[in-house]
This record gives sequence, structure tokens and C-alpha cells, in this order.
Amino acid sequence: CNNFCTYCIVPYVRGRERSRSIDNIVAEIEAAVKDGYKEFTLLGQNVNSYGKDFGDKDAFAKLLRRVDAISGVERIHYMTSHPRDMSEEVIKAVAECEHICENFHLPFQAGSSEILRRMNRGYTKEKYLELVKLVRKYVPDAAITTDIIVGFPGETEEDFEETLDVVRQVGFTSAYTFIYSKRSGTPAAKMENQVPLAVKKERLNRLMALQNENSLKCHEKLVGQTVEVLAEGPSKQKTVWNGRTRTGVLVLWPIEDKQYEVGQKVNVQIEAAQTWLVKGKAVD
Ligand code: SF4
Repeated sequence: CNNFCTYCIVPYVRGRERSRSIDNIVAEIEAAVKDGYKEFTLLGQNVNSYGKDFGDKDAFAKLLRRVDAISGVERIHYMTSHPRDMSEEVIKAVAECEHICENFHLPFQAGSSEILRRMNRGYTKEKYLELVKLVRKYVPDAAITTDIIVGFPGETEEDFEETLDVVRQVGFTSAYTFIYSKRSGTPAAKMENQVPLAVKKERLNRLMALQNENSLKCHEKLVGQTVEVLAEGPSKQKTVWNGRTRTGVLVLWPIEDKQYEVGQKVNVQIEAAQTWLVKGKAVD
């Protein structure tokens, strides 16, 4: 990673970004398709800066379109994106390509622009919210997910309220929430005004309660809809199958008499929503 967020050790231990060629990645996926794979995740520490090192700022959008065109590829994901590097070209590619899943994982980390500056994230709260608007303009039904850190050094109650404000405004489908913890060797570990653990825990609890409400609301919107689910396997007790929607929502449905295969697409009508998953019945 080339970013050097002040809390993160990755750039020190993993070194600088290097992009594989598009042809090389496409060849690997074509070989995997021949072996029966259908779902692919393009993985990079900062995946949407792909290709900047060979001088093409739109390389990631081009890569997505090339992968989408490979016969036999059914679902494409990518992780992890950096909000600073998320371009309109990539959002358009997601909107226009049949197999790219409509899930934007955009870690915002903190809602306060001052904390974001000290994290060296390269965007402000306002820029982040503009990016969310752009995503919704092209892909109105996209699931937007995120990562959030609470208790970065110097985070005041007002700063934390800005984080809650972003969570309320965006309505994330899900969020990975973390308590800031020092990584020795990083600039943030040496910053003054470290937040006491009790305060960090209390903020995390408030954040998780708010996000749980958002997750439930997003899942409730699916009730009554028939969604395409990629079957992942039966539960341990063999009473339900589980799989995921294109936007990554976990779906459970009764096994009943039907046989399913891992990787099979199943249409499931959603009947009930919970915070972490939805339940329904297969309608194929
Ligand atoms: S948080 Fe992500 S973008 Fe920032 S330095 Fe670490 S790996 Fe890079």
C-alpha cells in the first residue's frame, strides 16, 4: 500500500503497491472458470488504485470490464477499495456490467474531517458523502458497506458524533467496527490524547447499536422480494441452506426435499429479516 494512513502498519510490512497485468489476471480467471469456479474476488490492499503504477488511472475499471466479459464468470467482487481512489469510471463499470455485484465497500473510518486529516485518509466527510451520492446516482440499489474506527487519538465526543452522523446519513447495509488500538511504529501510536479504553468501548456500543438498526432496515427492504442467491452449502444441522445475494446479504431457506449444489443460483422469496441475515423460501 502506498497510502500510509497514520494508524496502519501495512505499508511498512508489505511494501509498495505492485499491479499485475490485466492479461495475467484474466488468464488466471479463465483457468479457474475451466475448473468450475463461478465467483471471483479481485483482491488488493487498495484494489481500486490498481494500475496507477503503470500509469493508467482507469485501469481498474478496464480490469473489471475485462473480467465481466469472461464467459462463465457469474459474480465479481473486489476488495478493499479506498474512498479516495473510487472513480466515476469504476462506479459506471459496476452499473453497466452484468456480473459485477452491486456492493460498494467504502471504509470511511471516521466522520470528523479533522480526524480524517490526522488519519491521512485523503478525503473529508463532505467528499465521502459526495462519493456515496455518486454511487447511488449510478447504482440506486447498491449495498454500501464500510469500516469504522472509534477512539482514534484526540477523538472528542463531537468528532464521534460526526461518525454517527455519517452512519445515519448513508444507512450502511453493514459495517465492520473497530476500537482504535496502537500499532507500534505508526505515527498515531505516538500521538498525544489517546482516548481511554472505557470511552472507546462506550462509543463502540453506541455505534454498533445504530448500525444494527441500519442493517435491519436494509434487510427489511428485501422482505417480499425474490432475490438471486448463490448457494454456499447446508447448515450443520442440515435444516437450511445458506447463500448470499449479489449484495452480500446472508440468506437462509429450508432444505425441504430439493437438492441444491454449491454454486447453484437459487431464487429465494424473502419472508423475514433479522439484523445479520434474511430468511425465505426457494421459488425455483
Ligand atoms: S488502512 Fe488501508 S489504505 Fe490505509 S495504509 Fe493501511 S492498507 Fe493502506
